[in-house]
Amino acid sequence: MLVDHALIRPDATYWELEGGTATLTDALTTELGPVIQMGRQMTRREQTSTGVRITTVGEYDQDDVPSGVPDSTQTIDADYAVIAIPLSAMRFCEFEPALSYTKRRAVTATHQDAATKVLLEFKTRFWEEGEHGFRGGGCVTDNPNRFMYFPSHNDASDGGEQPSGGVVLASYSWSDDAMRWDSLTPDQRVDHALHGMADVFGTDTVLQEFTGVGLSQSWMQAHYALGEAAIPMPGQLSELHHATRTVEGRVHFAGDHTTLKPAWIAGAVESAVRAALEVQART
Ligand SMILES: Cc1cc2nc3c(=O)[nH]c(=O)nc-3n(C[C@H](O)[C@H](O)[C@H](O)COP(=O)(O)OP(=O)(O)OC[C@H]3O[C@@H](n4cnc5c(N)ncnc54)[C@H](O)[C@@H]3O)c2cc1C
Repeated sequence: MLVDHALIRPDATYWELEGGTATLTDALTTELGPVIQMGRQMTRREQTSTGVRITTVGEYDQDDVPSGVPDSTQTIDADYAVIAIPLSAMRFCEFEPALSYTKRRAVTATHQDAATKVLLEFKTRFWEEGEHGFRGGGCVTDNPNRFMYFPSHNDASDGGEQPSGGVVLASYSWSDDAMRWDSLTPDQRVDHALHGMADVFGTDTVLQEFTGVGLSQSWMQAHYALGEAAIPMPGQLSELHHATRTVEGRVHFAGDHTTLKPAWIAGAVESAVRAALEVQART
């Protein structure tokens, strides 16, 4: 909570990555070109005093289900490695020789938070109408939806034509709140999110304006993310956090979880700069 209060202040400046968050990583990787191999999952890291070997397995299919094809295994040999996958993903990798005791504790014990979203499409932007109408922003409720966020794009202020409908982030929840949504089927999530919105905006309006299209995403159930972010529990910041970024032989570690800005892109970028400087200093 203290970290959140330090970062999410009324006077903080936020930037939007127009075109989506992938535009940042796409821009950063342009010069690397074909060196980048997508769709490969690290399963093992070995290292000696002279080099590092990373073993990867091949593509996940479109539904993020492992292909399980044994001959898709590949190894990459390098002088140094930067491992930038979430701690929850490192839990499922083999390390030979084993990681240090403090790093192992950070990997096994750091709390990985959950986040789940349910999006609903509506024929009209009914929330923008009438005396109490509003544009963008969000509301918080104690019903299971918890947080709702409304589109702040494609309205008349963007210079474009005002679209009649819009997609609402009808439920955005974290931690235990999110885990309860994860127990539901995708259809049940849409149904409950709709009723949670009806609680706030009135059943007739919400049911009448819903187009029938809804989608949900659980980061705890996402095979590559394995959770929303590393959010240290009480005591973990002092006991475990530092070990997330210590160097182990020829292997360096990056990712937002190695900084004091976990769950922020700024933390990921900060860690990338730190890891790049570490490796550069050795070569
Ligand atoms: C719901 C949600 C909302 C967010 N909202 C914001 C926001 O508004 N603003 C903000 O600044 N930040 C936000 N964040 C946080 C932001 O997404 C992260 O801080 C950032 O993506 C972390 O970058 P990273 O490179 O450290 O890790 P990731 O982006 O998690 O990258 C790790 C990569 O490792 C890959 N991977 C996993 N396992 C393996 C494996 N075994 N082998 C190979 N690759 C593997 C994954 O596929 C992934 O591509 C949000 C996160 C979530 C989940």
